[in-house]
Amino acid sequence: MKFISTRGQSPAVSFSEAVAIGLAPDGGLYLPESLPDLSPRLNAWRNLSYADLCAEFLSVFATDIPEDELSRLVRRSYATFTHPEIAPLRRLDERTAVLELWHGPTLAFKDFALQLLGNLYGWQCARSGRSINVLGATSGDTGAAAIHGLLGKPRTAIFILYPDGRVSPLQERQMACTGAANVHALAIDGSFDDAQRLLKEAFGDRAFALQRNLAAVNSINLARVLAQCVYYLSAWLRLTEEERERVEFVVPTGNFGNVFAGWLLGRMGVPIPGFKVATNRNDILHRFFTTGEYRIGAVQPSLAPSMDIQVASNFERLLYCLLDEDPARTQAAMTELRFRGSYRVPNFDLGAFSSSAANDADITANIRRVHERFDYVVDPHTACAFQTLNPDRFSLVLSTAHPAKFPDALRAAIGLEPTHPTLEELKTRPIAKHLLPADLGALRDFIAKHGV
Ligand SMILES: *Cc1c(COP(=O)(O)O)cnc(C)c1O
Repeated sequence: MKFISTRGQSPAVSFSEAVAIGLAPDGGLYLPESLPDLSPRLNAWRNLSYADLCAEFLSVFATDIPEDELSRLVRRSYATFTHPEIAPLRRLDERTAVLELWHGPTLAFKDFALQLLGNLYGWQCARSGRSINVLGATSGDTGAAAIHGLLGKPRTAIFILYPDGRVSPLQERQMACTGAANVHALAIDGSFDDAQRLLKEAFGDRAFALQRNLAAVNSINLARVLAQCVYYLSAWLRLTEEERERVEFVVPTGNFGNVFAGWLLGRMGVPIPGFKVATNRNDILHRFFTTGEYRIGAVQPSLAPSMDIQVASNFERLLYCLLDEDPARTQAAMTELRFRGSYRVPNFDLGAFSSSAANDADITANIRRVHERFDYVVDPHTACAFQTLNPDRFSLVLSTAHPAKFPDALRAAIGLEPTHPTLEELKTRPIAKHLLPADLGALRDFIAKHGV
């Protein structure tokens, strides 16, 4: 199978190439050239373990990786999860269930994609004999998940930039207490924007980026989308006939990577009737699904920080599908968005989507309500998904993080601070971070000294 860019100006590439490249050279995002029809295979997939299901699903796309190799990489990726079902489904009542996506090493759903991506990078390095230095900037969860994806992998090093003193103490510990020699938590003297600017400068220095074989951590890698399709598939396979007819996946959304994966699976012959895009107060996507107009505003901090996003980096993939898979129209839409700050989809049809938005007061109220009603504790991101559940649907809420990651919000809402053994253990370890000025020369020196 080949993968094409949403902007149509780059050649089609194999799965491994798309994973290694990340962002297509024309600035577009990779998607399968044509989508497979999975419907004839669904019955046979019903009783597979999560890892076997994932290997079967990915083998449809990763046709350039030998099947036994792929199966080994997938197995290794999900062996780090602590629940035997990997993505357990918890029924709260006859029309509400939660898909728990936080049993991975950093207790957030990003582990599903980044454990796999780390193993794919490791495999590519081992096969080619090359090394890579992975570089990312984070204000929260992605950095920790990327670090845990590459932890201890030969021929790789990872450098995560974050604003010193401006990520939560637990998030910092998840990055800076791994004890792994190839992991470098770089606390930048400045804001998140400074860290991001520094990252851009490092990749902009083409000679340096090439010489050091720099690779980016970002939310648009094709492997992330495909890895995320699998938990929707696994959940759908476990529903009853009656639940399948009414199901609406309710997805806490920021960069639109998670919910897009589910929707894409729906286009592969898995009949899923509904997706609800649940945002926090940064409601650009809620406004889009209400009006058909995508209008960029200013990012506002919220209790669900991993969803504090205005320009959703995976949105271009949806746009491409909505614009009849026409790369020229997609390119024109992205240009209009960049220059005017807004774009309206002509003849917009919601299709399977609905949406909601939750401000901080809603998040607190939802945590409290879910706790009282179901005796179940959700984190602030998952709480956004409980904003409005459609009583005519079977609501399948994706729980994207463990509540123990957000002790302050939980204490304020229900007077309890949930704990998790992984986080308790982290608190006993020394913090190994490197303070760095927001300066390209200093970053280059650091990578030259500590990179592979
Ligand atoms: C990243 C993240 C989200 C948002 O997911 P997107 O794929 O960016 O839409 C939601 N919840 C948590 C906990 C996250 O870490």
